[in-house]
Amino acid sequence: MKRFMSFSFIAAIISLFSCSSQKPIDMDVTEFGLLLKENEAALIDVRTPGEFEEGHIAGAVNIDWMGDSFVEKVKGEYPLDKPLAVYCRSGKRSAAAAKKLASEGYTVYNLKGGYLAWCNAGRRVTKYEVELFKTANGSLVSLCLIKHGSVEIEYDGVSIQVDPVPGFGKETDYAREFPKADVILVTHSHPDHLNGVAIESLTGDSTLLILNKKSEEMILNGELMGKGGPVAKRQVIANGEKMELPKGITLEAVPAYNTTPGREMFHPMGEGNGYVLTIDGFKIYVAGDTEDVPEMASLATQGIDVALLPVNQPYTMTPEQCAKATKMIAPKVLIPYHFGQTDLSGLQDMLPGQKILFRKMQ
Ligand code: ZN
Ligand code: ZN
Repeated sequence: MKRFMSFSFIAAIISLFSCSSQKPIDMDVTEFGLLLKENEAALIDVRTPGEFEEGHIAGAVNIDWMGDSFVEKVKGEYPLDKPLAVYCRSGKRSAAAAKKLASEGYTVYNLKGGYLAWCNAGRRVTKYEVELFKTANGSLVSLCLIKHGSVEIEYDGVSIQVDPVPGFGKETDYAREFPKADVILVTHSHPDHLNGVAIESLTGDSTLLILNKKSEEMILNGELMGKGGPVAKRQVIANGEKMELPKGITLEAVPAYNTTPGREMFHPMGEGNGYVLTIDGFKIYVAGDTEDVPEMASLATQGIDVALLPVNQPYTMTPEQCAKATKMIAPKVLIPYHFGQTDLSGLQDMLPGQKILFRKMQ
């Protein structure tokens, strides 16, 4: 069935009633929801970082209206022809921000009633940064950057959790904050990637746990971090193997290991996995704990859309190695993750022209 009212339909109606001078367009929760579903407008939360961290609309980027150089920050992030969707707590700050941005030449949509109205309407919010991507067929893939090595990928109602772990930075209560997972992927057996409590919290009747052999051995030997009960369905996967997941998603396990002399024991070759997920043609590479191994070069031929690469030595890569790996893989978008205290400020200079999303992940 065709969608009742599309964003382009709303935009067409609005353009009939608005004059050519740029004025912000106020929207209620329903209209704003449709706008976000189209994923054409950049979503900006103009509240303070503290408010943002407590919870926000999925996909929002936080640029504080009351902080320094608000307009410059927006302009640094988005070209003038990028439509912007803004919201604050109740709609007051965002109305002011929208007016200012419209006067700069942007097309701006403002959420009437703000975050409060959104929450009151029962819409889902998150305390994590979420990136929304569109597949070539126009379907949405959402990537929730939970922390350190933990991410959730959601597509067409399928939730795939990669390396869910409650601790490491902000505490995550998986039972409360996420739906039961359809698939849980574990890259390797280190405690910042494999955790019994998180797995138990996310396991429902049809959850499939996919993991490397060493991780399964730890489960069978009762050496799992966190208590965690037995998991009904398990599938071990090794480097080079492929699997079919629900909704036509395919999974490939790829090598993840250390190469620097004296560090090979952290992640021995052949033990852990990185994962490439192909979702409606859209390819996400979650590298796991690895250095810039030569096998990455073969990923370039696959056309990776998003690569999540770890950047913390001694366990994974230096920023220089990450830059080298990125050049090998040639992803459309790089998201550094698993970086701990590593200074990432030089990364963009090493990768001119590369789209990099620097996200908190702590
Ligand atoms: Zn590790
Ligand atoms: Zn790790």
